[in-house]
Amino acid sequence: MNRPETDETIIQRRTRRITITAVVVCAVILAGGSLIYVLLQNILNSTTDSRIMTASEEYRNNIIRLVESDIQILQTFGSFLGEEDVADEEAFSEKLYEANKKNDFLGMAYFGSGIGIMTAVRGGVETGVIFDTLPEELKEALERAGNGEIAVSDIYDSENMGEDMFAVCVPVIMKEKVMGVIAAADSASRVGGLFSEYFSSDAYSFVHLVGKDGVFRIRSREGSLSVDAESVFDNPYLDEETEESMKAAMQDGESGMYTLRVNGTRYKIYLEPVGINNWYLFCVNTMKEVVGSAYWVITGAQAAFIIILALCIFMIFFAFLFVRSNSRRLLRAAYTDPITGGCNLSGFLKKLDDACGHGTQFSVAALNMHQFKFINEIFGKEQADRLLDYIGTILRDELGKEEFFGRDTGDYFYLFLLETARNEVEMKLHKIMRKIKQAPFLERSSYHVLFYCGVTDTEGQERGGELPSRMMTQVMFALDKAGETRQDNVWFYDMQLHEKEKRENYIESHMHQALEKEEFRLFLQPKMNLQDGSLAGAEALVRWITDEGKMMFPGDFIPLFEKNGFCARLDMYMMECVCRHIHQWIEAGVQPIPISVNQSKLLFYEADYPNRLRELVAEYNIPAGLVTLEILEGLAIGNVEELNERIMLLQKEGFRVSMDDFGTGYSSLNVMGALKIDELKLDRAFLMEISHENNSRQRVVMEMVMALTRRLQIATVAEGVETEENEELIRELGCDMGQGYYYSRPISAEDFDRKFMKITPPASDR
Ligand code: C2E
Ligand code: MG
Ligand code: MG
Repeated sequence: MNRPETDETIIQRRTRRITITAVVVCAVILAGGSLIYVLLQNILNSTTDSRIMTASEEYRNNIIRLVESDIQILQTFGSFLGEEDVADEEAFSEKLYEANKKNDFLGMAYFGSGIGIMTAVRGGVETGVIFDTLPEELKEALERAGNGEIAVSDIYDSENMGEDMFAVCVPVIMKEKVMGVIAAADSASRVGGLFSEYFSSDAYSFVHLVGKDGVFRIRSREGSLSVDAESVFDNPYLDEETEESMKAAMQDGESGMYTLRVNGTRYKIYLEPVGINNWYLFCVNTMKEVVGSAYWVITGAQAAFIIILALCIFMIFFAFLFVRSNSRRLLRAAYTDPITGGCNLSGFLKKLDDACGHGTQFSVAALNMHQFKFINEIFGKEQADRLLDYIGTILRDELGKEEFFGRDTGDYFYLFLLETARNEVEMKLHKIMRKIKQAPFLERSSYHVLFYCGVTDTEGQERGGELPSRMMTQVMFALDKAGETRQDNVWFYDMQLHEKEKRENYIESHMHQALEKEEFRLFLQPKMNLQDGSLAGAEALVRWITDEGKMMFPGDFIPLFEKNGFCARLDMYMMECVCRHIHQWIEAGVQPIPISVNQSKLLFYEADYPNRLRELVAEYNIPAGLVTLEILEGLAIGNVEELNERIMLLQKEGFRVSMDDFGTGYSSLNVMGALKIDELKLDRAFLMEISHENNSRQRVVMEMVMALTRRLQIATVAEGVETEENEELIRELGCDMGQGYYYSRPISAEDFDRKFMKITPPASDR
């Protein structure tokens, strides 16, 4: 069987659910946050990438444009040359020098068969220049031009000019023959000067012109590499993998984007072939330089986002801690009895449940006080609470370390004892009861309290999940039994109680079915008029006749039905039987007599109770005055006014109200005087007491009651009339009616009709 969920498991389950939710929410926020972070990072990356690529492209185009315009100038100049121009070296050198001055070249040169002229804007003209003395890079380009192709030299260090140079060489063709080569030299810094135009002059970006081998050709002044690095690969921050892929790309003449991390700053490197001499542009950019303020916007957004994220997670975590501590506090409150500070019933059951799992032998005892409600009434709630608190203190003192107790509502205390020997348990409980009686306020008031205890133990019990609830049921049976005697009493659960438990089990599991199958039968007992001996009425008493034909008396099941609430349904059912029966009398043409019906406390205070009664009498078309509602005096305790309101409401509907069992409880004449009842039924015990010869005091009380009822115009019925003497006695006292075995035992409605109404009931009602 599944164990019922306790408050703790519910709270634990909820806390677990909240924890999971909090973790999931945090994870979602984190994942979403990371996604947004990555997106922003990607935007930043791609913005940097496109920025660097556009700039590099631009720069490359400018180099090409620069070289092409040089070529154009040289070709134009060459196209005007004839054989006669170059025949005279002196004259031609002058012409070349003139052309040099008109253009921006640092120097120009012409090499043809046997001629070698070089001019320099700042140095004049030199003829008879020997080819072999020229720098290698220049010689190589001139040779290529000599073979008819336009060539650009690699960067070379010119001794004459004292700076890095490059030259553009164009063949001079006459009559479809290469007659010579014309060249123009420019400062490498002209190319370098372009860098700063496209890469703004901040420290975040720079560009180098490198050869296919990675060796610097034109080196930017900025950059993080040491000054004596020969090539871009002399870079300690470049990892092997990136270097390899750079080299491979340069070998294949391809461009490529790379990332480098130096001292926590990410650099983007873009390698792009220029398209001249296997030159490469090596562009470097830190992320910070993205399109003006965009970098700061994105980075700011990222930072703000991280802060919000951290705040969210912090708040969720904080809320989680709050909920958890709250749940714990709630849990503690849910298990604590505010009066004694110990466990309440739930707390006790939980501890009992835990203890059952340990396999030790133990006893459970229930301790209760006779008439605790009177302590409440007489001394007030505050004193009563103080007494309960005192009991808690005594129990704490008397119970062992591993033992515990709990309090249910009122004065119900449950004890867990690690003792199963009956005499030991009994001694312990008696000691506890003795000590409680020494409570200062009880001693002061000299109010005598009586306790009773029920006990059950684990001896011979089947272990398992049902043990705690089984033991709680058993202990209640033992407690009920212990309460039957008015003395400090300890009762152990035994076979007899086990039988009772079984019977009650049967009753509870069969009651609904029994109601449907009409196993509850209407029995009637006559009420006789003591003045003339005529039939004054009848009382409806229920009998349960099971389908096996066994008859059960109200004493066997009514107390249980009162506890489980079924009594209200049964009473309404009986009420309907009574209405139907009176209706049958009227139909049969006999003079109907009033029938009294017992009403349980539960039903009497139900909100729609008067309405339902009214509907019933209307349905069966009978006068409400033929129905007397018997209520118990216990209903009056503490709420005479409320009860009176109910009574008067019912009387307005025409019903009569009778107070049953007067004299058994603690009803005072005051209460009786205050209630607006129509009839008073004196309990059988009253009659028994005054029947004793020497009980004159009881007789005086009875006479007083009779006098009072007469003055208040309340009819009186004496119950339990068993003999002629009984009848004589109550007549003398002035009772109006008598009810008891002397006239008739309760008999089935059919027998009653035959015997007292002189009719044979219709077959359908049998
Ligand atoms: P009660 O209302 O006081 O009913 C009178 C009880 O006394 C009946 O017991 C009756 O059989 C018994 N009695 C009558 N005359 C004598 C006598 O001369 N000597 C002795 N020794 N006993 C006598 P019963 O029928 O067992 O009912 C017991 C109680 O059960 C009733 O006490 C009533 O409180 C309750 N009860 C019975 N029927 C119903 C019902 O339909 N609804 C509710 N709520 N309670 C019922
Ligand atoms: Mg009654
Ligand atoms: Mg009675």
